[in-house]
Amino acid sequence: MSEENPHHDRDQALHLDPDMRSMPREVRNILQPVRMEGDSSFQFRCHSQIDCFNTCCSNIEIMLTPYDILRLRKRLQISAEAFLYEYATPYTLTKGQLPVPLVRLDPETGKCPFNTPEGCSVYEDRPVTCRYYPIGLALMHKQNSKGNEAFYYLIKESFCHGHQENQNWTIDSWREDQGSDGYDERNQGWMDLILKRRSAGDEVNTSLQLSEFFYMASTNPDEFRRFVFESSFLKRFDLSEETIERLRTDDEAVLEFAFDWLKTILFGDRKVALKPDACKKTTP
Ligand code: SF4
Ligand code: SF4
Repeated sequence: MSEENPHHDRDQALHLDPDMRSMPREVRNILQPVRMEGDSSFQFRCHSQIDCFNTCCSNIEIMLTPYDILRLRKRLQISAEAFLYEYATPYTLTKGQLPVPLVRLDPETGKCPFNTPEGCSVYEDRPVTCRYYPIGLALMHKQNSKGNEAFYYLIKESFCHGHQENQNWTIDSWREDQGSDGYDERNQGWMDLILKRRSAGDEVNTSLQLSEFFYMASTNPDEFRRFVFESSFLKRFDLSEETIERLRTDDEAVLEFAFDWLKTILFGDRKVALKPDACKKTTP
């Protein structure tokens, strides 16, 4: 996508849903349910002179990933609390029951708060959902496997005229142009956890407290950092000096660690070791 265009996805939840039959009808109807790979091609161009300019930034659901929030907060220079209050609204994923933040739209106009007549006011730091559009990413957790399986699909919505423009892409060249890779890499732990939780179904009981920890880790690394350093956490879990030092200063390290810890608590993945003399019951 060229630099001047804002875009969004209809529903970031789509990006985590490999089963199109579970999507609402109005969402299914806007999709071409064709599985695409990195070298699959499509035609699309978005720019500020197009007649549908800005129509895609209203009445949408944009899930905010942890790295989206870090980037936006840094740009806006506000605390996590202020960001969540002003720009986010919590939403519980249907499958897996984990809480995630969505962009809070203007209640009167339905517009994204970052949308202006000139386009996206946070373009360089726009959420990854906006970077992918009009591509959807479906991720599946593979049982008995360490990795996830990913594939892509094209989202065609009638109001979006970018599909009629004459510019060719592959999925890979689009992702590179949009800078999606760095976001996916940094959100990996968070995405893994959501996928594992939803594929585990009722076998894993997510208590209210663990859901709150998940939301805290997803949205507010400062608060997770306080939890690590101001509770008995370091007496119970075995962290190297290097990890402790990184957690003091590096927000991205906090995100990575927080999701490793949640995987340990929820799924017994043993990503974070207990101290030998710690009580076996580690649930906070
Ligand atoms: S963040 Fe920017 S690109 Fe995304 S919906 Fe809002 S205004 Fe549009
Ligand atoms: S509707 Fe499509 S072409 Fe129009 S501004 Fe949005 S992403 Fe670009």
